[in-house]
Amino acid sequence: MPGKLSFDELKSRVAEGSVDTVLACFVDMQGRLTGKRFHAVNFVETSFKETHCCTYLLATDLEMSTPVGYAATSWETGYGDYIMAPDLSTIRLTPWLEGTVMVLCDVLDHHSHAPVPHAPRAMLKKQIARLKTLGLEAMMATELEFFLFEKSFEDIRKGGFRDLTPISGYNEDYHILQTTKEEHVMRPIRNHLYAAGLPIENTKGEAEAGQEELNIRYAPALDCADHHTIAKHAIKEIAWAQGHAASFLPKWDKDRVGSSSHVHQSLWKDGQPAFYDKSATLGMSKLMEHYMAGLVAFAPDYTFFLAPYVNSYKRFAKGTFAPTKTVWSVDNRTAGFRLCGESSKGVRVECRIGGSDLNPYLAQAAMLAAGIKGIEDKMVLPPPTKGDIYGDTQAADIPQTLRDATETLRNSAFLRAAMGDDVIDHYTRCAEWEQEEFDRAVTDWEIARGFERA
Ligand code: ADP
Repeated sequence: MPGKLSFDELKSRVAEGSVDTVLACFVDMQGRLTGKRFHAVNFVETSFKETHCCTYLLATDLEMSTPVGYAATSWETGYGDYIMAPDLSTIRLTPWLEGTVMVLCDVLDHHSHAPVPHAPRAMLKKQIARLKTLGLEAMMATELEFFLFEKSFEDIRKGGFRDLTPISGYNEDYHILQTTKEEHVMRPIRNHLYAAGLPIENTKGEAEAGQEELNIRYAPALDCADHHTIAKHAIKEIAWAQGHAASFLPKWDKDRVGSSSHVHQSLWKDGQPAFYDKSATLGMSKLMEHYMAGLVAFAPDYTFFLAPYVNSYKRFAKGTFAPTKTVWSVDNRTAGFRLCGESSKGVRVECRIGGSDLNPYLAQAAMLAAGIKGIEDKMVLPPPTKGDIYGDTQAADIPQTLRDATETLRNSAFLRAAMGDDVIDHYTRCAEWEQEEFDRAVTDWEIARGFERA
């Protein structure tokens, strides 16, 4: 891919003066890029080895609070430092920012230099390594849905988040005329990301006014998560530069559909699709059946990693193309899991539960862990569900609130075995804190409903 640079190529560009800034970033619990802007000369001379950051960055919330209750870090431990270790295989141009390149960092313990277990990139690497011991590699693709608004983040914030007018006036699903009017934002998104080394497939209008989708070609799981994170970040920056806000909040209006992030997944062995068996029903190999059995059975356990906020659960509404049940089906968009590319080498499973707010490292780590469990235990896949699954009273529900998903996470013996008690306790605390903060809030809805009439 164009856009990726070796460390030697970066040094040459710094020497010739075309690169002056290096963004050294790691991924936080919320899936955001966090880090520092280096003068490029300093980076290539010394900081390429390591830099440091405060431990609270992997124990905070969207608003950068310092919640109590994390074992890994706290006021008591003095909020020390982590090492940010640049992964020099991830250096890439960021053409929407002048003279700038980006490198992703792994987060290491300051003393032992071991990976921090609850760092999202480390969590995904751990499950990829487990798959590797089975001789398998995961290929993943995450779709990015989001809304574009007429105004900028700054104007919307100053207006108290009241005047939320989408960039278009009507449902623009697959619409060419309306999306032409948005090309001043979407064309630079496609082209800058492609030039940054992301295998961009396409953008399209989605099924609401102002709703967009970006598709990136499937890639090995870690690359896919890196692509997703960089793309989400770039979308916000490129839209901002054009005076618009791009929002990945899953549900910003009760009467409009929400935004998802569907995850396509397949396993490969020796460069060949291991999910495909020409002679089997729907072309699904036994390996695929076991993987999917784990994926479907453990969905309630890992729903938090697909839907991490109170708002995430507002998306799971009947008749909106967002699923409500943890069943699978063949090319049916009302199920939690959809079989795609059946009877072909491209046979794969799409998980439709995740919202646009998911952290792709955590989502993929959790789903790989579930699939591996299915393979190890040779779990049996139930038959596919047919028809309109919203009305299926037999099918199991996706946890309906963050509170429910916190409890299924806390009590998941399988996730504790696959990821470690320390990691599950850390993210359970993260989920609890989000709920505690919401429970303290007095919402507009309560005031409008009860101010006069209560
Ligand atoms: P659409 O349904 O929009 O026509 P596709 O079915 O071609 O698109 O693919 C949807 C997503 O699935 C794309 O991002 C693509 O890269 C990804 N994909 C295709 N084949 C595989 C595979 N074998 N494993 C994982 N993801 C895949």
